Amino acid sequence: MFDNLSERLERSFKILKGEGKITEINVAETLKDVRRALLDADVNYKVAKNFTDTVKEKALGQNVLTAVKPSQLMVKIVHDELTKLMGGDTAEIELKNRPAVILMSGLQGSGKTTFSGKLARMLKMKKNRKPLLVACDVYRPAAIEQLKVLGQQVEVPVYSEPESKNPVQIALNAIQEAKAKGYDLVIVDTAGRLAIDEQMMNEIEAIKNAINPDETLFVVDAMTGQDAVNTAREFNERLDFNGVVLTKLDGDTRGGAALSIRTVVNKPIKFVGTGEKLDAVDQFHPARMADRILG
Ligand code: GDP
Repeated sequence: MFDNLSERLERSFKILKGEGKITEINVAETLKDVRRALLDADVNYKVAKNFTDTVKEKALGQNVLTAVKPSQLMVKIVHDELTKLMGGDTAEIELKNRPAVILMSGLQGSGKTTFSGKLARMLKMKKNRKPLLVACDVYRPAAIEQLKVLGQQVEVPVYSEPESKNPVQIALNAIQEAKAKGYDLVIVDTAGRLAIDEQMMNEIEAIKNAINPDETLFVVDAMTGQDAVNTAREFNERLDFNGVVLTKLDGDTRGGAALSIRTVVNKPIKFVGTGEKLDAVDQFHPARMADRILG
């Protein structure tokens, strides 16, 4: 993950090796390289420009006589700014209601269903929750089956109504079922399309309005780079979601989505998916991700 970006950044910092101090010229040269590396990692153009502008200002501003070498100073500033770019602090999910309700949104293939299973498992094991998974995809019977298989693997029951064509009602019924049977967490997996369409957006918006979830999460494939960011923007306009789940970070992703999404939609990344297995999920920690990027 991000290997290319890490290498490129490391190379940019080399420009400052052996320099006695930071100057307008060597900073400009370094940051030209940094910006190119970010753009090649598919970071949004404006995000990359603002990033290097901020780093430049800080580097020149902190250019007092210190014991810190220019290259070390630059690495530290880039680290801090990468952390900020990805949201600064770790963003937690907030589950207030009983049962608490989490709604999943995103395109088909983004990893929604897999993440629903992963999250149910994680919250059951780590937070002692009693989850109920809900299959709200009324278009693909295979989607219900897939969630059931995942449910079995993580030992969490799945609520579904195979005959129903009304996802809003299924979600509401599932919450009633959870109340009646003492589940304290309801995770609603919804239908996704291959591309954004009006009907799908209306449907998920209607589900959200009806069930008023504690958390609406937007799940997106990190491998899709700038498309991930554009899709996030469109979903956010309709759903005003609480957080992003970036999946497939184990793949050959260049990093653009992870670095741009926070700034573009102003919503935090809360979780990352790092594999197909059900334990391949982590909370997203911006500072740790910056550590990894800078190697
Ligand atoms: P959905 O259509 O949004 O529900 O997506 P699925 O959960 O069915 O996932 C689509 C495909 O991506 C499946 O083959 C999953 O195994 C795979 N997948 C999901 N999350 C990850 C991940 O974090 N890493 C990898 N490598 N594959 C993933």
